[in-house]
Amino acid sequence: MKMTMPPKEQKRLFVSLASLTIVAILLCLVYVIGTKSLDSYDPIVSSDSSVADAADASIAKADKQEMPEAPVSANNVSENTAQVTDTLSSNTVSDTATDVTEEPAPSAMPDRVTYAEGFYYESLSETVKERINGKSYKPDCIIPYEDLRYLSVLYCDFDGNTQTGEIICNKAIAQDLIEIFCELYQNEYQIDKIRLIDEYDADDDLSCADNNTSCFNYRTVAGSNNLSNHAKGRAIDINPFQNPYVTYPNGTVRISPPGSEPYADRSSGLKHMITEDDLCYKLFREHGFTWGGHWKSLKDYQHFEKKE
Ligand SMILES: [Zn+2]
Repeated sequence: MKMTMPPKEQKRLFVSLASLTIVAILLCLVYVIGTKSLDSYDPIVSSDSSVADAADASIAKADKQEMPEAPVSANNVSENTAQVTDTLSSNTVSDTATDVTEEPAPSAMPDRVTYAEGFYYESLSETVKERINGKSYKPDCIIPYEDLRYLSVLYCDFDGNTQTGEIICNKAIAQDLIEIFCELYQNEYQIDKIRLIDEYDADDDLSCADNNTSCFNYRTVAGSNNLSNHAKGRAIDINPFQNPYVTYPNGTVRISPPGSEPYADRSSGLKHMITEDDLCYKLFREHGFTWGGHWKSLKDYQHFEKKE
């Protein structure tokens, strides 16, 4: 048959076979190149995930994982564009830097949300749970750990110096607080101290006497058996010495903490008092909090809360 095929047919068959061979060679080349580029990519992926597995190796790394959420969840994006942009750009840098920093860093929880540089919140780490267990987190606490968040914030102290503060709050107000404290810091609003109340053995009187700003503490309302909104992590006390707790038992006036009596006169104009013209007051109100300074039966000028 083949031998009898006319020359024209033979030529056509040859061309077809040659074309098929070329296509086959090209397919092989594409496959080889594809495999090689995958091979060269693979080590980057595995080294990257090994860094992530190291968990606490780098805060920047963990921050990066959560960063896309920050600008999305931020309500006042326009006012905080600078922060978000800053964080995003520094994030890009950490993204390209594959090496882990040498210095030890605190463990970053996988759900950490970084709002701006120096401002983040996350679930409670085992270390934080150990710090609060038996203190602000009492054995009979009905609030699960999962409902609480640990915040790290920057603030200006009474000397105008930048300090790092720690707050534990309900997860429902974590985003509110991080935005409020970021804006307070941007505006150099002065706060004396922001420490976990556990550093005072969860004793509210000691914390207030030391003018400490704090939020979560599983306790009842002073002088009653009702759970305070602090117990749910939904209330925060700011500069309690300059913003005392004033009650009127049996027609008398009781002012707490001791020594804060001059601040019970809200017309005195003394420094660090929260008034309706105050930035702190305005921010908390904007975020849907109520202020203890508006209460009728007693005055709790340090206190802001956001109920369920
Ligand atoms: Zn309070």
